[in-house]
Amino acid sequence: MRQIETHPSPHQIEPAHRYIYDFADGRASMADLLGGKGANLAEMTRLGLPVPPGFTVTTEACRYYLRSGRLPAGLNAQLAEHLATLEDATGRRLGGLDEPLLVSVRSGAKFSMPGMMDTILNIGVCDATVDGLAKLYGDERFAWDCYRRLVQMYGKTVLGVPAERFEQDLIRAKVRKGLAANAPDTDLDADALRALTRHYQQTVRECTGQDVPQNPREQLTGAVRAVFESWNGERAHVYRRREHISEDLGTAVTVMAMVFGNLGADSGTGVGFTRDPATGAPGAYGDYLTEAEGEDVVSGVRNTLTLEQFGAIDPASHAALRGHMTRLEEHYHDLCDVEFTVERGKLWMLQTRVGKRTAAAAFRIAADLLDEGRIDEDEALARVSGDQLAQLMFPCFAPTAAAAVTPVAFGVAASPGAAVGRAVFDSADAAERAAAGEHVILVRRETNPDDLPGMIAAVGVLTGRGGKTSHAAVVARGLGRTCVCGVESLEIDEHAGTATVARGQAAGAVIHRGDVISIDGTEGAVYASEIPVVPSPLVEYFEGRQTEKQGPSGQSVRGADPVIAAVARLLAIADRRARLGVRANADTPADAARARRFGAHGIGLARTEHMFLGERRPIVERLILAETPQERARALNQLLALQRADFTGLLAAMDGLPVTVRLLDPPLHEFLPDLTELSVEIAVADATHRPVEPERRRLLAAVRRWHEENPMLGLRGVRLGLVVPGLYAMQVRALAEAMAARRADGGAPVAHVMIPLVAEVRELELARAEAIRVLREVDPRLTASIGVMIELPRAALTAGAIAKHAEFFSFGTNDLTQTTWGMSRDDAEGAFFPAYLEQGVFAASPFGTVDAEGVGALVRIAVERGRATRPDLEIGVCGEHGGDPESIHFFHDAGVDYVSCSPFRVPVARLEAGRAAVLAERAAQGAAVGSDTR
Ligand code: ADP
Ligand code: MG
Ligand code: MG
Repeated sequence: MRQIETHPSPHQIEPAHRYIYDFADGRASMADLLGGKGANLAEMTRLGLPVPPGFTVTTEACRYYLRSGRLPAGLNAQLAEHLATLEDATGRRLGGLDEPLLVSVRSGAKFSMPGMMDTILNIGVCDATVDGLAKLYGDERFAWDCYRRLVQMYGKTVLGVPAERFEQDLIRAKVRKGLAANAPDTDLDADALRALTRHYQQTVRECTGQDVPQNPREQLTGAVRAVFESWNGERAHVYRRREHISEDLGTAVTVMAMVFGNLGADSGTGVGFTRDPATGAPGAYGDYLTEAEGEDVVSGVRNTLTLEQFGAIDPASHAALRGHMTRLEEHYHDLCDVEFTVERGKLWMLQTRVGKRTAAAAFRIAADLLDEGRIDEDEALARVSGDQLAQLMFPCFAPTAAAAVTPVAFGVAASPGAAVGRAVFDSADAAERAAAGEHVILVRRETNPDDLPGMIAAVGVLTGRGGKTSHAAVVARGLGRTCVCGVESLEIDEHAGTATVARGQAAGAVIHRGDVISIDGTEGAVYASEIPVVPSPLVEYFEGRQTEKQGPSGQSVRGADPVIAAVARLLAIADRRARLGVRANADTPADAARARRFGAHGIGLARTEHMFLGERRPIVERLILAETPQERARALNQLLALQRADFTGLLAAMDGLPVTVRLLDPPLHEFLPDLTELSVEIAVADATHRPVEPERRRLLAAVRRWHEENPMLGLRGVRLGLVVPGLYAMQVRALAEAMAARRADGGAPVAHVMIPLVAEVRELELARAEAIRVLREVDPRLTASIGVMIELPRAALTAGAIAKHAEFFSFGTNDLTQTTWGMSRDDAEGAFFPAYLEQGVFAASPFGTVDAEGVGALVRIAVERGRATRPDLEIGVCGEHGGDPESIHFFHDAGVDYVSCSPFRVPVARLEAGRAAVLAERAAQGAAVGSDTR
């Protein structure tokens, strides 16, 4: 990207490094160097749109400044040179007494950070030039309006005067004029604005002991420095952390000739979108404000006009604007937003970018652009994401109900969803009320591991402090609880059991313990009342309760829900493009059926442990306590009948598709009573001389015998199968008999038997031999593939040998992550995860997104060694990572055949499987993601 000045000046031996680009010399693909704003202004200039002339100081100059505290050598000279060009282009001079040039100094990083950094307008107006400015435009009021705005913006941004000070001055100016405090600023005449400018200057002096410089060149360099420094402002940091934008990019600075929307009724300023960024609906959309400059239009100082109303008052500018917007959308092939200003009937374009949008709009726009033939299918997939799809699947507040109520506060949207419940201020209270059947929202200043029971009991969590990586946020996401955190405008008093709204429209409102509140973890909004929650219309559609052609209440309206239609369309494309298959983790026929409706092609993991719980637990106890082979056989037979029914249901729900049954995995004592409770029960009985059944004593002995210090690393998985006689044989027999029953009923059962926790090939050999023996016994014609779960590092490393005895591998990435890192997930997430995230040990939880360097390396090794032994080895992933977008892309690249995830994540996985294929292909072709204009 670096470019070297081609004609060195005689004073320099080295050619000067280029730190400044005129608009005419840049383009959209140079956002790294020119920032998004500068690059897109250059692009609009190249397209011939009416952009005021200007130039951009590079992000490189900013990085230099932030490192050294000095402007790079040569920058001043280059600034003078480009300023001279600008002066020639406009025929005006910065600081000129007759025809003064005014410029804006604007920040713009590679990624847009709306409103996070500073921009200063009207640089160049001062005591010496204000009269010349008035004469130039024939409008004295206007000249003083520019001046007071400069003093205010420069005072606030460069010199650090609190904004409220200027607001107070402005109110006083209105009152002096006999106007109401909230009268529009347009009611102030030239004299009032002159006086106001002087008051502002006085305020600056009082607050800082300095003046806004009277020398326009000094104003310019002061503003450039301030923009560089605003990169390190608190707001900017917070935003970057939230959006995962790197801290070292720096911002560019754009210097641009001013055009004025504050020149009377035929002037104004506005913003526009080429489509609706909230719904994705086609058609331009925007706001316009006459007699206004800069941020006035979005700041709510006066009511704005719609684009149609703008068209009615200034048809020519409106038509020109619509033309430019269409042009931009055609050029960028995407939703664009624009900023524009009309100066005495002449339209100027001041900014454009590919606009931000909601999840719903992202799908709708991608599908619409595809229909319009502007992008192809691959590009449409690249434009949406699994995270956006997941957002559309959470239950949400009924839109009309939420729109009618104003949130009392906003915080960080930390864990999506919509939760309604009574506010409680400590964990114990939450647990108690939840046990009594109440829905509660846990409200804390911040949370720590002691709050875990309360968080589990609550439907939502609300905190006053902390961001997306705070304890509350991490744990809430892990638990699947809705969470809004860092709501700084709420003063939370846990002792008193109150949360007081400190700022904003609802300032002073108090939420008391027991009040019903609603929190929106997708938007970060907090409501002080009950907002009705409705299921996501998209989920209703996946469930088959609503078609894409039906309206929300089921009426048959063609295309009534364009978002659902768009999702369906993009999912179909993803399915076609995907190389990775998607299966579901499901243990019950109901879950299996839902997974199938959501598009799963089979079950990648059916856990059998829940089938040993509840009313079946006594049978497991009998199995463990059995003293004779006959007793054991009786217990096993009882379990056999029950398991057969379980498997028959699963095979029926997934008829024709593979059902992967994992043999029993957890340590047996998980199915026995708690050691402490049982010990206490018997000790108390003994102490009070009450009789104790001999059965209870035997049970206690067994519980003691089975007790383990580290059950996670103990007698579980295949170890259990090899040590407890008949257990795995019973499970395989149940599966085989279920297959036979399904066949007899005309079904097409496809069963896979999966052996868990294998570390050594011999374990697999033994378990497999037994499984094959049982299958043959039941019916020699039955076939089921027998495979292994790869969830221990040793299994991954010896995958070559293991593959000799396995027809498939399935990575159990949850356990593989625990055993690779040597930490238990449940303990780690509550205890030290937040600290680890904070200190940057992890960028993301390795249990959420697969750790590519560690766990991922084992996956790659196992795939390679396994396939070297058995080229047709089928390889899947059944950990929770199977539903995580980033992990799915990793598994695609690693050569895995399918991922398996919870039924609810299946659509997300389908979409990301398709995207992974598209993005990998693009990366291989060396093409940047997206076109070069994005
Ligand atoms: P942000 O990145 O926060 O949107 P901008 O740099 O876009 O900040 O500037 C703030 C406001 O000032 C915008 O409304 C913009 O259109 C307006 N503005 C910037 N430069 C000029 C200019 N040269 N003439 C008129 N208005 C300008
Ligand atoms: Mg802007
Ligand atoms: Mg496991």
